[in-house]
Amino acid sequence: MSLTALRQRIATVSDLLCTLNLIVWDSRTMMPAGGTQTRGNQIATLTRLARDTLAADQTFDLLAGAEEEAASLPPGDLAHEELRQIRHAVEVHRRVPAELVERRASVRAQANAAWIEARATDDFALFSPWLAETVRNTRDYADALGWSAHPYDAMIGLYEPGETVSSLTDLFGALRAGIAPVLEAALARPRPDTSFLTRAYPQPLQAEVGRTFAERFGYDFSRGRLDTTVHPFEISFTREDVRITTRYRENDIRPALFGVFHETGHGLYEQNVDPAFTRSVFASDLLGLYAVGGTSFGAHESQSRLWENHVGRSRRFCELNFGTLQATFPESLADVTPDAFYRGVTDVRRSLIRTEADELTYDVHIMLRVEFEAALMDGSIAVVDVPGAWREAMKRHLGLDVPNDREGALQDIHWSSGMIGSFCTYTIGNVMAAQLHATAMAEDAGVRDGVATGDYAPLAAWLRERVWRHGRSVPREEILRRATGRGLDPADYLAHLRTRYAGD
Ligand code: ZN
Repeated sequence: MSLTALRQRIATVSDLLCTLNLIVWDSRTMMPAGGTQTRGNQIATLTRLARDTLAADQTFDLLAGAEEEAASLPPGDLAHEELRQIRHAVEVHRRVPAELVERRASVRAQANAAWIEARATDDFALFSPWLAETVRNTRDYADALGWSAHPYDAMIGLYEPGETVSSLTDLFGALRAGIAPVLEAALARPRPDTSFLTRAYPQPLQAEVGRTFAERFGYDFSRGRLDTTVHPFEISFTREDVRITTRYRENDIRPALFGVFHETGHGLYEQNVDPAFTRSVFASDLLGLYAVGGTSFGAHESQSRLWENHVGRSRRFCELNFGTLQATFPESLADVTPDAFYRGVTDVRRSLIRTEADELTYDVHIMLRVEFEAALMDGSIAVVDVPGAWREAMKRHLGLDVPNDREGALQDIHWSSGMIGSFCTYTIGNVMAAQLHATAMAEDAGVRDGVATGDYAPLAAWLRERVWRHGRSVPREEILRRATGRGLDPADYLAHLRTRYAGD
């Protein structure tokens, strides 16, 4: 039985990828600094084993046999989609030269070191040769993956299958046109008091209240953990062990509070994938060699943004849950009302830094990066011209002067990590979150009543049924069509931004 044997091979790859995630989680939470070099070797070795297993002739032969067996199955059988995804990944791994994979990995390590140095000294020239090398390698990689209209399409497809430069150009046009007047209206409002958000918030209490809210959203701590890190993330090693992380600032309640809401959303997705998909292609990104149950990066981000922004940052949530915060931090929040809290956490401020941007201006930062990446990939901008073009773009889109490259083109880790193509998934996540949330609220009275009274189980059940349980067995666009009757559509997102930021 080739199909059975093939599934066993994929289970082996899944085990390797889950183990890889586990040592990555450790390196970002617990590992002493001294472990960096040897951990890097371990990560490279496990990645290579996973890739070699997929690219092996034996896997290729089993795949052909499995396809023959599956030919007799009914058209609706999931085995067809399973084999389609496995074939796609196997063919890509057999096509991309091992030399290129190694070159990309080695440049990544050096580019990252150069970027850290360049950012510390605000010297773009230190990073610029490494960025040029990264772009060249990414271009080679895109050529190996294959593309037709634009080389960047191949890279976008790794993170958000189905999206292209052309589709993003349309989406971004609609978003820019919709966001600009809302931003103008938001900036014309009187600024709310935000001083209480930066009072004393002891870390152990922040951790405790974070756990309380994660549980309130439905995150299962018997299959999860909340730990401390520098750059927060969620990561899973099957749905039975899904971990979230956050960072604490004792003089600012926002990063950890909204960070935990965000990572909880990611965690809920992973914890609720159909158990039947464990150790299968439907819980593994075989192309990106990453154990994950979410169907795309954008779909994943939609769940984090839904819980962070549509639930956690909503007026109703603040009214219902501010009491918990006030009881936890009586000294810092005694004189604050739920309404003042809501206004404080929905304050709009143009920022130079993407990671500090508010909900309304975040996509402006993303769109700029995506356009730079596309231009670097097709050669319409040279690496040395990026800092100047960045200043010009920030002035044009946000009206801000960029005083140095540290707060400009050197601020993100993505380019030094070779993650070209991933930025668009943040904005796709925002759009998809609004579309799913609006649909759930419009069509399901139970969801509405729950959100109105602080019971989030009906919303979680709605999402579990339509999004989470499917894992990677249904593509993002199909998830949206089935759940909302439409493909990705920015209308609900823009309506949400208008209501929240340009309403009363
Ligand atoms: Zn996220």
